[in-house]
Amino acid sequence: MKKAKDLMKDLAYDRKNFWKEASKEDQNAAMDFSEGYKKFLDNAKTERETIKFYAKQLAERGYENIDADAKGKKVYRLSRGKNAAIAIIGKQPVSAGVNLIVAHIDSPRVDLKQNPLEETNTQMAIMKTHYYGGVRKYQWMSTPLALHGVFVKRNGEVVDVNIGENEDDPVFVMPDLLPHLSRKVQATKKIGDAVAAENMNLIFGSIPFIGEEDEDVKEAVKLNVLYLLNQKYGITERDFLSAELELVPAGKARDCGIDRSFVLGYGQDDRICAYTSAEALYDIENAEFEKTAIVFLADKEEIGSDSNTGAKSNFIIDFIADLLAHNNEKNDSVTLRKTLIKSQVLSADVNAGINPNYPSVHEKSNAVHMGFGVGVAKYTGAGGKGGSNDANAEFNSKIYNIFDEENVFWQYGALGKVDEGGGGTIAKFMALYGAEVIDCGPGILGMHSLYELSSKADIYSSYKAYRTFFLRG
Ligand code: MN
Ligand code: MN
Repeated sequence: MKKAKDLMKDLAYDRKNFWKEASKEDQNAAMDFSEGYKKFLDNAKTERETIKFYAKQLAERGYENIDADAKGKKVYRLSRGKNAAIAIIGKQPVSAGVNLIVAHIDSPRVDLKQNPLEETNTQMAIMKTHYYGGVRKYQWMSTPLALHGVFVKRNGEVVDVNIGENEDDPVFVMPDLLPHLSRKVQATKKIGDAVAAENMNLIFGSIPFIGEEDEDVKEAVKLNVLYLLNQKYGITERDFLSAELELVPAGKARDCGIDRSFVLGYGQDDRICAYTSAEALYDIENAEFEKTAIVFLADKEEIGSDSNTGAKSNFIIDFIADLLAHNNEKNDSVTLRKTLIKSQVLSADVNAGINPNYPSVHEKSNAVHMGFGVGVAKYTGAGGKGGSNDANAEFNSKIYNIFDEENVFWQYGALGKVDEGGGGTIAKFMALYGAEVIDCGPGILGMHSLYELSSKADIYSSYKAYRTFFLRG
């Protein structure tokens, strides 16, 4: 007879703590890997900035724009400044099916309304806002915010805006109510109603414009704001109507914890998967692998993946059709459909790690534990698995096997207890094309807050998982 302890090890499933069981080499690599990741988070706080980051990096790394007479195996396409598809052709034809990783690069935030500027009756200039995605509104009050985005001028010129990230930049704030006077307006309300969207106004200025002749104009504070913006960007108030201006937390991503085992920063849902999947793709550039590997960076996931930059659009399908042609293969609609059915997709999105402040919403054995590697979720959704891609057991098993064979730290993890709430990912939209799809991404704490927390063990394990999928999937 075997010892019970050994038998348990053979027969029972248990997650492995990366910091306990990974090699010293892998642990050091995890620490190093997060340095580049933090820089990425600082430089790519919006979907547009993420695409700019990759446009530059792809050119530097010798990837060719598929629309510009590309010849090689490393190609990409950018779309509308908010989407990217990056591919390396494998040994097999594209029509044998591709291995695709999809991550989204939009994050919950607070946008400016299209006609945002107003002077209050106490002579302050404010900007009205409209939140984007699933934000907990109270978290965005009384915290320093930076303004990122674009104006498009009448002549078509696109002007980038980025105020609040440099040390000497001003920042912005939406002041919350003081506790002394919150008894009726806030304190008796449910947390979701405590801050009304219409109370989320940004303080923008307070100095009135004084003309040369000292004449008294109405709304002189608003005028001064417009004057300063015109000086800086050459825009007028009309240009706000078409602009895309996003408020995000000001400041940089930081190490967190006395042992520096975590990264604290904005927008890790889901730029953590964008970064780790792109790094995984770069890493296989010189490797031998069978299936064409693609990273798809999608926008608009946080509001349902709609619009022509969301994952429901035809962008990625069209890219795969053009990859077939690029590789001198047929790309008629039947070939394309069959290619998609033969394809495999990792829906790379974050999962909810068990939060020690609120463990009750999770079911410990079926949830993601921080520091125990990349999470894999067979399904997401709500209620009776509603609105979920439910990955097929055969594909699910294959993923676990290749992860084990390559020493990837992975763990099973669903979002929360059954009927506790729910959520979805891009997985089900990718599954529409008939490909095998599974959700695979790290757990984070404080998801959708201004400062999301990730484990360096899980960041690194996600990168290794994605690399393994490209090489072995
Ligand atoms: Mn997400
Ligand atoms: Mn999200």
